[in-house]
Amino acid sequence: MNDDQHDQVLYARFGTSSACWRLSAGSNTLELTPVTGAVPANVAIALNPQQASQIRCLTGMTSHIVVDVHLAGEPLRLHLVGKKVNRDTWAGTASAYDDTASVVRDLAQGLAFAEQVVSEVNSVVVIVDRHGKIQRFNRLAEELSGIKEADIIGSNALALLMPSQDDAAGSANFAEVFNRGVAYDVERRIKTVHGERLFLFHHKFVRSGRGGDEPLLICSGTDITEQRLAQERLTELANTDELTGLSNRNAIQDKIRAAIEHAGPHGEVGVLFLDLDNFKKVNDHYGHVFGDDLIRDVSAAIGGCLNAGDTLARLGGDEFIVLAARGTSRELEATAQRILERMRAPFAVGLVEVYTGCSIGIAHYPQHGDSLESLIRSADTAMYVAKDAGKRTHRVFSPDMNRRVAEYMWLDTNLRRGLEEGHLTLHYQPKLSLASGTVQGAEALVRWNSPERGQIMPADFIRYAEESGLIGVLGRWVMESAAKQAAIWKADGYNLRVAINVSARQLADPAVVQHFTEALQHAELDPCLLDLELTESCLIEDEAAAIELITQFRQLGAQVHLDDFGTGYSSLSQLGRIPLDVIKLDRSFVRSINADTKAQALVRSMVAVAQELDFKVVAEGIETESEEMFMKGLGVDYVQGFLYGRAMPVAEFERWMQDRQKLRLIA
Ligand code: C2E
Ligand code: CA
Ligand code: CA
Repeated sequence: MNDDQHDQVLYARFGTSSACWRLSAGSNTLELTPVTGAVPANVAIALNPQQASQIRCLTGMTSHIVVDVHLAGEPLRLHLVGKKVNRDTWAGTASAYDDTASVVRDLAQGLAFAEQVVSEVNSVVVIVDRHGKIQRFNRLAEELSGIKEADIIGSNALALLMPSQDDAAGSANFAEVFNRGVAYDVERRIKTVHGERLFLFHHKFVRSGRGGDEPLLICSGTDITEQRLAQERLTELANTDELTGLSNRNAIQDKIRAAIEHAGPHGEVGVLFLDLDNFKKVNDHYGHVFGDDLIRDVSAAIGGCLNAGDTLARLGGDEFIVLAARGTSRELEATAQRILERMRAPFAVGLVEVYTGCSIGIAHYPQHGDSLESLIRSADTAMYVAKDAGKRTHRVFSPDMNRRVAEYMWLDTNLRRGLEEGHLTLHYQPKLSLASGTVQGAEALVRWNSPERGQIMPADFIRYAEESGLIGVLGRWVMESAAKQAAIWKADGYNLRVAINVSARQLADPAVVQHFTEALQHAELDPCLLDLELTESCLIEDEAAAIELITQFRQLGAQVHLDDFGTGYSSLSQLGRIPLDVIKLDRSFVRSINADTKAQALVRSMVAVAQELDFKVVAEGIETESEEMFMKGLGVDYVQGFLYGRAMPVAEFERWMQDRQKLRLIA
């Protein structure tokens, strides 16, 4: 059959040379229907399985297939132009093989649709040939560039296409990229009529176009400016400490990890872990706004002590980390020294001047930790040891420090429990009038009877209690217990004042006076026989607040004693301004008088100044008769020490009192 005849077969059936075709998933029968509904002459044509499956390979893209079939016994060659139109249906137009006009028309329709999609899609689409010449430039590309497609076709588009801008010049490179034919994505800033925008371009190579086999590059770009502006902000937020603008925990962890990776097994990385010494107190006392200002000032001050390339981060609260650019021991310690030196000066926040020291732990990769976690843990451990060593100092990590930290952890669980379960008790040490030898009062000293370790002395847990904040609960318990004991002794006819030790940290709690008042009320201790022993550290940080508190305690009837006098930083001129009752000469001075005359002269002048200021003087830690004699010579008012009696449980203290009474009666 020649082409003419094909045409006639179809014509005879439908009155035109083309028809609509349809194939469903369930059957291999190709249905033909007329294009116009004029002649109702549906025709079913049996396809062989290969033909049917060839048609079922058609996608949503209009394409073209040639099939040889039989119609009414006559062989017929058909052009099928069509696509998948439904989940299980393929359809399009069928033309006789020789009816090229119909085939062209049908394909052109499909093509026009495809071209329209390219034009209208909400992406920039630029199609380029292997020479980098633009073949298509869609509507969005026109809009954004302000250039008409017709004016740009055939122009060079290399600058737009290469994976990196540097390569853009090399057309040789472009040819290579083309030959490789591997799709790639690239982000590029593009000048548009709306200003510079960030685009993500997807570059994909296809073989089609003229001649059917010409490779073309389809670049489709979407504007990701907003999405990226948002994303960058999110990343920035996720990595920045809001208060100080420094790197946060997240960011510094990443940086340390990267530094470790970069250093490799033979390089060095140094980390400083900083923790402010009395920040919580400042924060509690002046409030969070003040605390925030202080943190900002402190972080700026620390920043000023660093070397070029060092990174400062705030971990939160009052904790900071420095990732040092150079990791040698000497450089790290020098940096720590500079920071400590700077922190010795007060910070002026508004009208208030505060002192806030810090403790610094230093650790090196790889000696002290071979991973981010172990390195930070070691620096943190060294920081705790620095705190334990009296604060305002630095320590370089050493493996034996882990033991001390384990001790800290033990205290953390057990002291809390000890307080709850009543394992704490007070011992009492007598204070005597030096001239008359009468017992004037007792100092309450806390002891912890641990079921696990037996009796634990305050030196082994008070500092921890202060650092952890447990001193609040502990101190209140001491107040209540000592007040009750004073009331019992009063009822039993003893004439004793009882002094309790109060740490600086307790005084930072605005409720401390209230708690003291309650302790007196609960014990019905009226008049007040409870006194307070404060250390110099309570006075130096905020003198005005200290004076205010001391005044309130004294109004309640308490005497206020300055403990460990001479070991702290308070100046003699400052002492004159503080409304104290008694000064307790620290036992290290008492001890020193045995050594040389210089020390004796110092103690003599300290007592003289206290007397000049009208304070009573207690010499603590008297162990020998000669020490007692020396103090008598100076006119010291009261004495306390092992020479007279140690700190004792209540029953023992009472026996001691009775024995002493008997001795005095005999004498
Ligand atoms: P501190 O207030 O200076 O108390 C005097 C310390 O010296 C007591 O030690 C006492 O037993 C000891 N001592 C007394 N006489 C002599 C002596 O003649 N020779 C020698 N070598 N030592 C003597 P302790 O009981 O171990 O208390 C140590 C520190 O613990 C106290 O020093 C005080 O700062 C603190 N502390 C004790 N109880 C409490 C408390 O309830 N609250 C607070 N915040 N601190 C307390
Ligand atoms: Ca004391
Ligand atoms: Ca003392």
